[in-house]
Amino acid sequence: MTPKMTSIVRDEIAALAAYHVQDSAGMIKLDAMENPFGFPPHLRSQLGERLSYAAINRYPDAGADALKNAIRHAFNVPDNLDILLGNGSDEIIQLIAMALAKPNATLLSVEPAFVMFKMIATYCGIRYVGVPLTPDFEINIDATLSAIHTHQPAVIFLASPNNPTGNSFSVSTIDAIIQASPGLVVIDEAYFAFSSTSFMNEVSRYQNVVLMRTVSKLGLAGLRLGMLIGDKKWLGEFDKVRLPYNINVLTQVAATFALEHIADFTAQTNILIDERVKMAAELRLLFQDHADAKQFASEANFILFRLPASHPATNVFNQLRADNILVKNTSSGHPLLQNTLRLTIGAPSENSALIAALQNVLSPLTKAPS
Ligand code: PMP
Repeated sequence: MTPKMTSIVRDEIAALAAYHVQDSAGMIKLDAMENPFGFPPHLRSQLGERLSYAAINRYPDAGADALKNAIRHAFNVPDNLDILLGNGSDEIIQLIAMALAKPNATLLSVEPAFVMFKMIATYCGIRYVGVPLTPDFEINIDATLSAIHTHQPAVIFLASPNNPTGNSFSVSTIDAIIQASPGLVVIDEAYFAFSSTSFMNEVSRYQNVVLMRTVSKLGLAGLRLGMLIGDKKWLGEFDKVRLPYNINVLTQVAATFALEHIADFTAQTNILIDERVKMAAELRLLFQDHADAKQFASEANFILFRLPASHPATNVFNQLRADNILVKNTSSGHPLLQNTLRLTIGAPSENSALIAALQNVLSPLTKAPS
């Protein structure tokens, strides 16, 4: 930066590294929890037809009423709760942080968790506190309650299932945190489709809880659509900091159409859940002779895996990349994530390729003499 820039760019922004998206051209992409299947083929021409009539000469419907209606039906949103839409749930996190960033306000989460909680806190000038999970990635309830007591956070973000660990937190633990919280608690259910539990029907029991979801993991990541579900008193305040046309016309039309066919996306999700079970079994088999390898139970569309010490994660990551497979090297994200990789569940053929490549990493094939 030039001296002039240094004098005007906020110190905390200057100190940041930009969010890095890995180059993935031509690779088997198992790094970002995307659905591998693409838009259901039998719906593609209808989608094209709908999009061709979309009024892209006009600004979008600022209230996105048709889309909210489709969301309400597809996700069984209780009638007494409102819906606020964001350009991905990333934007929802930002709206909440912007609205609550009073001087000295705190945003609290657990660690490791979704990195954007901390990054967006920094962007918005709200103090961030992260409470470490236990080595098994459960919430350390004593430490969390104590941090809540000390920091009196304006907002707590809890992703359940959590990213990058994959586990869900128990309803009773979340309840204890909500009861102790002096501010708002946001339950982030980005991975709800792959999980057996949800907070959707609990939200109304509390004055200080809202629920966040996204369609990104359902097969619609490219549309950028996240949502906040909760009491209209909370949502009304966050709506004031939302830019009026944040959900573009094409997203509104495509997401409405997709959610009218939610069963087709649920069918894809169910395949991925089956694949997750199969992958867990394959990984267990592959690493059975390595006592220090560890697989973490997942309720999401990815598996976090600790490699044996004999196989540094960075080496394995690079070997997989040489085999054209891209996963996420989570090792340096947090001390609790040492020597881990996060493997997104892909299509059956992609998962088989990953297992074969890992097999090769563990016992490299000796070249046949020529
Ligand atoms: N929350 C969690 C826990 C996530 O893992 C992600 C995406 N990685 C998001 C939110 C953001 O999702 P979106 O694509 O809707 O911005």
